[in-house]
Amino acid sequence: MKIDHVGIAVKDIQEAAKVYEAIGVRMEHTEELQGMKVGFLQVGESSIELLQSITPDSSPIGKFIEKKGEGIHHIAIYAENIEQKLKELEEKGFRLIDKTPRSGAHGKKVAFLHPKSTNGVLLELCEKGDE
Ligand code: ZN
Repeated sequence: MKIDHVGIAVKDIQEAAKVYEAIGVRMEHTEELQGMKVGFLQVGESSIELLQSITPDSSPIGKFIEKKGEGIHHIAIYAENIEQKLKELEEKGFRLIDKTPRSGAHGKKVAFLHPKSTNGVLLELCEKGDE
């Protein structure tokens, strides 16, 4: 297991990427997904995921920024067999946003745990997709 990525809600991924470029981390890949522009910056074996809403209300990111401003949105942990993990978490009484994985950026399988169950942190589990 590892921290796969940290998701950061920003108003403009190109602008936000400049901060990391100044440190020496380049944005290597961008894609559009579910009303968002997503940019990836690889830092060792983990990455930073910059998330921008294409229009202010086209995604949860737009609503997040409206309420809280820019900042850390979620932390993603890479895990094997997330279907099984989700089942176990549900049995233990954790509140899940996704009871079954959906497809995320890079074709990965992703599922979110509700911040009410995770000390206020939106936690994502992700796993390589079937392709
Ligand atoms: Zn993510």
